[in-house]
Amino acid sequence: MKIIKSVSIILVVGVSLLLFMLGPFGLFDNDRPVETDTTVVFSPDELLVKLPHGNALLEILDLSRFDGDEALIKINLLAELPTFKDHPLYQAYYFMAMNNIMLRLGRIDDASTYAKKLLDFAEQEQLQWLKASALSELAIERTKRGDLDTALTYLNESERIAKEINYEGLLIKSYNSLGVISILSSDYSKAQEYFHQGLKLIETNPKHLYHSKIIGNLAVIYIYLEEWNKAIAYIAQSKEIYGQDKRLEPAIMTILLTNESNVYFRLGNTLQARRAYAEARQTLEKDSSARLQAVVLNSLSNVLYLEQQYESAIAESNRCLGLDGIQKLPLQRGLCYKSKAHSNMALGNYSAAIEDLHASIKDNIKIAHTAYITGNYKSLSQAYEKLGNSSDALKYFKLYYLGDKEVLFDQRQSELYLLEESFNAEAARNAFALLKTKNEIQDLELEGQTLVTRVILGVTFCVLLALGYVIKKNLDIENKNQLLQYSNTNLVELSTRDALTGLYNRRHFDQFILSLKQDNSVYRDSNFTIAIMDLDHFKKINDNYGHDVGDAVLINVAKRFLLQLPSSGLIIRWGGEEFICVIEDQDDISSLDQLHKVWKVIKDVPVATVAGDIDITISIGAVTDVSVSQLMMNHAELIKRADERLYKAKHSGRNQIIAVD
Ligand code: GH3
Ligand code: MG
Ligand code: MG
Repeated sequence: MKIIKSVSIILVVGVSLLLFMLGPFGLFDNDRPVETDTTVVFSPDELLVKLPHGNALLEILDLSRFDGDEALIKINLLAELPTFKDHPLYQAYYFMAMNNIMLRLGRIDDASTYAKKLLDFAEQEQLQWLKASALSELAIERTKRGDLDTALTYLNESERIAKEINYEGLLIKSYNSLGVISILSSDYSKAQEYFHQGLKLIETNPKHLYHSKIIGNLAVIYIYLEEWNKAIAYIAQSKEIYGQDKRLEPAIMTILLTNESNVYFRLGNTLQARRAYAEARQTLEKDSSARLQAVVLNSLSNVLYLEQQYESAIAESNRCLGLDGIQKLPLQRGLCYKSKAHSNMALGNYSAAIEDLHASIKDNIKIAHTAYITGNYKSLSQAYEKLGNSSDALKYFKLYYLGDKEVLFDQRQSELYLLEESFNAEAARNAFALLKTKNEIQDLELEGQTLVTRVILGVTFCVLLALGYVIKKNLDIENKNQLLQYSNTNLVELSTRDALTGLYNRRHFDQFILSLKQDNSVYRDSNFTIAIMDLDHFKKINDNYGHDVGDAVLINVAKRFLLQLPSSGLIIRWGGEEFICVIEDQDDISSLDQLHKVWKVIKDVPVATVAGDIDITISIGAVTDVSVSQLMMNHAELIKRADERLYKAKHSGRNQIIAVD
């Protein structure tokens, strides 16, 4: 049943993978825009230049992206001319330029006022193209504020109109925005698809303003996928295209360079990280927006962290957090909190780090950035662990593992899940490998046919490999399942379980002692035996039959413990082939007799393995008549005594229990 389930999962993943891989070759790509020579591409700029003030307005529009003050003076002069009222296009471009100018001057509220005026004007004049542009501007503004849902609604409507009237220039921009939102929502393959669609249109509009932006954003995907070399290659390409286009605002270069610095930060390359940061710093202007300043400050904080100047790093993060307007930038603020937390961790200020991480998560949640949230959970878990708060450490460790996915976390499923995850990453990687810019796409198309064959073969191979792996895993796990039946399904349980045998591990032992300290009333009159059990000459089993057989023996022995020892007892895999048990005297049988029972079963009944029956024996050192308060207060001492007796058992011929000195 379970195998069938796994097989079907793999088949579904495999088939979707195939479909996904073949998609770019257009074999079954139904909704790809049909490219025909007869299609008239809509361009409002071309309409505008035919009007007397057209060229002047377009120049101001270009200027508005990098010199807000100058553009503002010029547009106001132009707008005062009586002939400016002659055509609705003037008014439309006026609003667009004002929107840019306000964005440029960092006046986001004013920018959105102009975007709304643009929308009203479009409705009033019934200009569909303008409505689409206005929606796209409003979407960008919403995205900057972290309101992704509204941004998406605007963009979908904008995309619909732009497709209807074949407004390619705007579509490219929309695909870029949709890609950015997908990145922010951690949906990287969707983001990749959008950027790909944008690049496809750029083939016929190579001078489009968004060419370098889209390539730069592709680099961002690779940053999230931690494919550093590709990220750096795309950043380099984007920088090159940027260098050839004089209309572009310096902000693009700032972002590219800070991204580059962050890649080097992740690679631990201090020199390059600082070099890229310093270049980014130079692109920053006095009137740069809070967003850009935050990005650059965060980059500096990262560089300082690499240079182990943690106090200075914190100071820069604090500057970022104190920026005017930072409260409206959850993405950037979340990152600055995160960097601050990491420096605090490095300094051993765990409580401060925890505060920062909670603040960062709060911002991450505002923009639903799962990747960041999950990363922060991991750091939180580490910080709590450092503080010795194991329950919160476990709580965040669990959240970290669960991520945003509602996955059933018994061991088997978690393995499948990990497999699927690596599959998805593989799918993304393969798909990205196909994603190249203009020239490369052309090359790809030439090679297309052979590539299709190679891709199919490659994917089929991967699917078969994974299928085999899952079946094997399932068979192994099937064996372990009886052991695992009693195990809870949540991850806290799992993290206290030993993966091979399903027995509890040391962490659980600590928790057990802790729980006794909190409440031991049920054990008030109990008498315990604590014992260390170590398989004899186990190394020889590995040496003679191999590690897998050794594993099978360990699993079998664990099973015997569970079957032979009372279920109220605690059995821990202490490490390797060494186990600890804590068992209670029962009315009818002392715990020492119970130990004898299990010892006898182990020596009398050989373990059946693929290498045949293997005789094994075990040595046991035990301390009997332990009260609950002794167990609670002196467990370390008790274990030490049991260990000394085990040592004696080993040195007096093995295969025995020693329970007295
Ligand atoms: P002794 O009777 O003195 O205890 O001898 P021993 O060989 O059992 O003890 P030793 O400590 O020399 O070796 C223990 C071996 O157990 C070495 C290690 O490779 C093996 N081992 C530890 N953990 C595992 C495991 O998870 N699987 C397998 N197959 N072997 C393991
Ligand atoms: Mg041993
Ligand atoms: Mg040992």
